[in-house]
Amino acid sequence: MKITLLPSTLHPSGATDFQYASSYLVNDSIAIDAGTLGFYGSVQQQEKVRHVLITHTHIDHIATLPIFIENAYTAGPECVTVHGSQTVLDCLQNDVFNNRLWPDFIELSKHMPPFLKLSVFEPGETREIDGLRVEAIAIDHVVPTSAFLLTDSGGSVLLVTDTGPTEAVWFRANQLTDLRAVFLEVTFPNSMGYLAGVSRHLTPDSFAGELLKLKHKVPVYAIHLKGRMRQRVVDEIVELDNPLVKVAETLTQYGWKT
Ligand SMILES: [Zn+2]
Ligand SMILES: [Zn+2]
Repeated sequence: MKITLLPSTLHPSGATDFQYASSYLVNDSIAIDAGTLGFYGSVQQQEKVRHVLITHTHIDHIATLPIFIENAYTAGPECVTVHGSQTVLDCLQNDVFNNRLWPDFIELSKHMPPFLKLSVFEPGETREIDGLRVEAIAIDHVVPTSAFLLTDSGGSVLLVTDTGPTEAVWFRANQLTDLRAVFLEVTFPNSMGYLAGVSRHLTPDSFAGELLKLKHKVPVYAIHLKGRMRQRVVDEIVELDNPLVKVAETLTQYGWKT
């Protein structure tokens, strides 16, 4: 399995690690979230993505989904499948593909080569997608949100964003015998603990508290750092002095051998 954080912005010297919005590419054909997916690479690269798993409907996680669906459209019999909880799919229908923000690709798909398929994927469910076993697990954010546990013959990787302090995902992680890595959000610096609390996000201090719930000693990659506060969050993560914790970089291919 390989996982790549897609960049949000370019600098003349190349992609930066800012994650203004979130998308993760898994093995080239699966994306988790579509905050930046529709602005990634060439249409040929986007066309390889056949499945999009949506954690939740905040705009930094779905902003470029309509653009991506358009870019990936080949007018063939196969189309992109968007997996999400019923809450997520209802929001996409009512608030995005509603003929106001964007054409209703869901309705159009009933009358012509389809743009997309919606697939209800509730927390607690597991499914096979392109050789990967994917399990959705409920986490604690201000809207219903799923973490995803990804497993192939090389082991399991857990992607947890966005969430405040939570329990079920660590209970599940501690049951595993093949956990290779965790991607975990840390959004605000410690001085913004109030805002982190009401918006159900983590600070470096509460991130460290979450890691105490995980019994496996595996690499943990920090994701979802707010752009404006990024350096403060990075400094506070470094102060945790935990050798297993690293801040994830965009376009680095994180891989685990099968
Ligand atoms: Zn969110
Ligand atoms: Zn977010």
